[in-house]
Amino acid sequence: MITQRIKGLVKRLVSGEGTGARRIGRDEHQIDRNHVSRNAIKVCEVLQQKGFQAYIVGGAVRDLIIGLEPKDFDVATNATPEQIQPLFRRARIIGRRFRLVHVVFGREIIETSTFRAPSSGDELTDDHGRILRDNVFGTHEQDAERRDFTINALYYDPVTEEVIDLHRGVQDLKRRVVRMIGDPAVRYREDPVRMLRAVRFAVKLKGKIDPGTEVPIAKLASLINNVPSARLFDEILKLLTCGDAMLCIKQLQAHGLHGGLLPLLDIILEDPEGRAFIELALERTDARIRSGKTVSPSFLFAALLWPQVRLHWQKLHNAGEYLAPALISAADQVLNAQTESLAINRRHASDMREIWFMQPRFERRVPRAIHRLFEQPRFRAGVEFLQLRAACGEFDSVIAQWWMDLADAPDDERAQMLQELAPEPKPTDTKNRRRRPRRRKSAPTETNA
Ligand code: ATP
Ligand code: MG
Repeated sequence: MITQRIKGLVKRLVSGEGTGARRIGRDEHQIDRNHVSRNAIKVCEVLQQKGFQAYIVGGAVRDLIIGLEPKDFDVATNATPEQIQPLFRRARIIGRRFRLVHVVFGREIIETSTFRAPSSGDELTDDHGRILRDNVFGTHEQDAERRDFTINALYYDPVTEEVIDLHRGVQDLKRRVVRMIGDPAVRYREDPVRMLRAVRFAVKLKGKIDPGTEVPIAKLASLINNVPSARLFDEILKLLTCGDAMLCIKQLQAHGLHGGLLPLLDIILEDPEGRAFIELALERTDARIRSGKTVSPSFLFAALLWPQVRLHWQKLHNAGEYLAPALISAADQVLNAQTESLAINRRHASDMREIWFMQPRFERRVPRAIHRLFEQPRFRAGVEFLQLRAACGEFDSVIAQWWMDLADAPDDERAQMLQELAPEPKPTDTKNRRRRPRRRKSAPTETNA
């Protein structure tokens, strides 16, 4: 018994596990300093020159080690916000729940936080254990311990070019394993968003969630419903723009985590047409992300919710409603159902509506209507949305391409294209007209716009 314990201890000592920080040199971590933000290096250097500890931390270190371009750079230090701020020309203290410093360099912001202590168990929590408030500064070791996964608790010192690894994160990163620091069930209860993050990072690493970290998710998945919806929105946006959106969604479904995010996702994905549309939208999103382009959240959510909007639209239209007002009602129904759980803010919702409401207007190619469409701020997004619909067989692909060409054309070519248009045919498509006259006073003036 005792020999076994000693053997275990020796094994842990040799491996470094539980013995505090490992300092990993350049040969092993292979971070190329040229890929590190000059400004983040500067922040660390200035703080270190003043005698503080300062490291680049979190996602940036993880991404640099696996050869991905980090999105942004965060710095962790033992200096307090009040000590950090005066050291930089443009720095402001932000945050209420946890105060930190934004050091601003032109368009780049280096988020610089003071080491934090992990939860002590005394914090204000909700009934399920979710932490509502924590604001305690801590040591470097404590800061590492309160981070979510071992791969996210790596600290890069740009001066010595060493990675300080307190939880064997480099090894997990190399093995592509997402492993929670501490007791996974407790940590999910503290912050259920960590379940979504586990899924996202496993997809991102093309790896897997460690079984001990994965198992409790099945039981705790419903805690996602207690997370404020604005935070869920941010997280699902990260999931959908990680470059492998469909896989993320499948993984969320597999872990029972999708319910709180897109309540009607199951229904949409069961319908082959809806599924095809969403798969295509997500494939195109992934392609944009992978080629370094940005994705507009409104476009993405407009696409995700379109199959439902379309369904309601058709139902209302078949029941005798004009196309345009039917589309407006359908959009309202779908957005109202979604915003309860997923906080699509007002600005996004109005962009989404604009994209949707343009769709029936693409059917009508007469110069006056085209000019009016052109004036819409989201015209290009509307045309791109039309391409998606055309690719799914929902709209004539030749006409969709004509709109794309028009959007891309320089002024003189555009004028030429408009001139070449055949005169508007007399409307024969009865679908676009009111079928069963109802109350006259609510009849819109146009049939197709
Ligand atoms: P990405 O920016 O690619 O989403 P990231 O790891 O940088 O990944 P952020 O949300 O930017 O994620 O968080 C920065 C760091 O803060 C993380 O690497 C992790 O160390 C810590 N962190 C973020 N969210 C949590 C959380 N919910 N619980 C514990 N630690 C967290
Ligand atoms: Mg980040």
